[in-house]
Amino acid sequence: MEGDHLNILVVEDDDFQRRMLIRMLRALNVQGVSDASNGKAALEIIRKRNGNPVDIVICDLNMPEMDGLEFLRHLGEERHSISIVIISALGGKLLLSAGKMTRMYGVKLLGAIEKPILPEQLKELFFKYERSESKWYPRSESISFSLDEIMRGIRARQFDPYLQPKVDLQTNRISGAEALARWIHPDLGVVGPYAFIPLLEQSNQIDELTFLILEKAASACRSLHDTDCNINLSVNLSLVSLDDITLADRITKIVRAAGIDPHHIILEITETAAMTDVAHALENLVRLCMNGFVLSIDDYGTGYSSLQQLTRIAFGELKIDQSFIQDAIHNEAARIVVKSSIDMARELKVRSVAEGIETQRDWNMLKNMGCDMAQGYFIAKPMDLNAFIGYAAGRNLGVVGDSKT
Ligand code: C2E
Ligand code: MG
Ligand code: MG
Repeated sequence: MEGDHLNILVVEDDDFQRRMLIRMLRALNVQGVSDASNGKAALEIIRKRNGNPVDIVICDLNMPEMDGLEFLRHLGEERHSISIVIISALGGKLLLSAGKMTRMYGVKLLGAIEKPILPEQLKELFFKYERSESKWYPRSESISFSLDEIMRGIRARQFDPYLQPKVDLQTNRISGAEALARWIHPDLGVVGPYAFIPLLEQSNQIDELTFLILEKAASACRSLHDTDCNINLSVNLSLVSLDDITLADRITKIVRAAGIDPHHIILEITETAAMTDVAHALENLVRLCMNGFVLSIDDYGTGYSSLQQLTRIAFGELKIDQSFIQDAIHNEAARIVVKSSIDMARELKVRSVAEGIETQRDWNMLKNMGCDMAQGYFIAKPMDLNAFIGYAAGRNLGVVGDSKT
C-alpha cells in the first residue's frame, strides 16, 4: 500500500524524532508531508489548508504550548474530517485512554502506537485508512436531517438492512450476518446510520425504524433460507426501546409473520445511554429469550454499567467492541481486554464475536486467542441482499455454525 497521494501532518516537538518521522514517510513515498512542533501550530496549518486538506495527522501527546490532548479536543470541536495516529513514549495503558478520549471527541482514530515507530506500522495504518475511506455512503458527518425528514423516510419505507457476514474463525464459514440500517435516500443515495440513529434514539423515536429493519431482515432471512443459505441474522436493538414492556411481543409477531423462527434472529443490544427502567428492560429481555431469540451484547466494553446487570440474563453472544480489536495489535492493555473478554465468554458458554477485523493480522490474532467469530472489512463490507446472496453462494457456504447457543 502506497501513501503517495496522502497529505500527512507530523506534530512532534522533538526535532530529531520529527525529522526521523518525515524521513520515514518520504521513504514510504508520501509526497505531501508537513510538520509542526506543537498543537497550536498544527491547528493553524489545518485551518489554512482549504483546497488541499490534511488527510492524516501523526500526533505526539507530550508537547509544550498546546499538548496532543488539547489539540485533539479542538480537532473534534472544529469537526475536521482528519484521521489521527497518536504516537507516544508513554505507557500502553495511557495511550489506550488517550485513544478512547480521541474517539469520544468524535475524531477518527487510525491507531495509537508506542514509540519508536516502525515503517511497517505506518504502512499498515495507511492501508487501514484507504479501506475506511472507501466507504460507499456519503460521509455522515457532512449531512444532517431533521427528525421530521427521517420519520417521513421511515414511513415511506426507504430504509433497508445491509448485510455484513459473520464468519466462524475456525471453519471460515459464514454463520450469520448483521443487518445494518441504511437509508436509501431518493436524492442522496445510501446514507449510513450515524446520520439518523442518534437523533432517533435521543428523541425516543427509534421503534418504527427498529420494526421496519426487523421486518425486512426477517424477510431477507426467509429469502436466504429459500436459497439454502441457512444462516442467522442479527438485528440491532436500542436499549431505549426496552422501556416499553410490549416490545418483546411486537418483535416476536413481526418475525413470525415473515415465516421465520425467532431462533434464527439474534438481537444485538448496545448501551448508548444509561438505562431508565431496568425492570422493564429485564422483562422484555427474558420474554425475548423465552420466545427463542438469541441475545447479544454489542460493543462490549464501551457502555455504561447498567448493561452489566443484564449479563445475568441468558445472553448467547458477546461482541467485543471494534475499538479494542483495532488497538489490540499495537497495545498490550487492549490485547488483555480482548483476550479476557474471549475467555470470559468461553467460560459462560457464550459465543464471542470480534467486530472490526480489518487485516489478516487482526484475523490471526483473534483466531489464536480462541475467538469464535469475526466480522469486519477484511471479510466483507455490509451489502444489500442481492449482493449478499451472490457473495454467500460464491463462498459456497450457508451452514449455521451455531452449536453454542
Ligand atoms: P454496530 O452494531 O456495532 O455495527 C458495526 C459497525 O461497524 C457497522 O457500522 C459496520 O459497518 C462497521 N464495521 C464493520 N466492519 C468494520 C471494520 O472492519 N472496520 C470499521 N472501521 N468498521 C466496521 P454502521 O453500519 O455504520 O453502523 C453503526 C452503528 O449504528 C451500529 O454499530 C449500530 O450500533 C447502529 N445501527 C445500525 N443499524 C441499526 C439499526 O437498525 N438499529 C439500531 N438501533 N442501531 C443500528
Ligand atoms: Mg451491532
Ligand atoms: Mg458493535
